[in-house]
Amino acid sequence: MITIALSKGRIFTETAPLLQAAGIVASEDPENSRKLIIPTNHPDVRLLILRATDVPTYVQHGAADLGIAGRDVLIEHGGENIYQPVDLEIARCRMMVAAQQDFDYAGAVRPGARLRVATKYVRIARDYFAGLGMHVDLIKLYGSMELAPLVQLADVIVDLVSSGATLKANGLVPVAHIMDISSMLIVNQAALKLKRTSLQPLLDTFARTVASQHAGA
Ligand code: ATP
Ligand code: MG
Repeated sequence: MITIALSKGRIFTETAPLLQAAGIVASEDPENSRKLIIPTNHPDVRLLILRATDVPTYVQHGAADLGIAGRDVLIEHGGENIYQPVDLEIARCRMMVAAQQDFDYAGAVRPGARLRVATKYVRIARDYFAGLGMHVDLIKLYGSMELAPLVQLADVIVDLVSSGATLKANGLVPVAHIMDISSMLIVNQAALKLKRTSLQPLLDTFARTVASQHAGA
């Protein structure tokens, strides 16, 4: 049995064509199902439907052999016991610092200065500002980060941005680009050794499909 962990929403939507290229089709649409284990047309392949941030944990412990997770989630998790063999180039966005339009970010970012940063991505934020020589006061949030600067909970936020529409709707502007984000295929290291004959062809198919999409094929 091959168990693949992934999340609903954009990750499932953008992964379905990659799975299909490998001949794997979910027997139910996870968006409309309450089932957390979804069988596929392939008797030896099943899907686990998880919260995005939990995907690396299932793969780390071998409860899933494979997973699909954003680079953001993987960095925050730490990536222990996990290989990241293929960048699937799906769910692309950017990790950005954003602030209110009238906030003097350039003036605030000085080595030794203090900055209040609200984010779900505390590791990425801490590392980024440490690289600028700053000690930031991190405020951990779980969502709706855009609100924090509007009510003076924080000076800036660190969040994922794709179109920028949510920032704009809340009067925020991006002030710094931290990194590009996309989703990775991840593999439990022990599973790759024990199940290589069944996993390797799947990994190869994913890699080939991504490469051919990249070539515009
Ligand atoms: P939830 O929204 O349930 O709190 P989440 O934000 O972790 O959980 P998703 O919104 O499904 O889950 O995001 C899953 C992954 O998709 C993220 O980890 C990130 O890599 C990527 N992602 C998040 N926001 C965007 C976006 N606006 N555009 C493209 N990709 C995104
Ligand atoms: Mg989300």
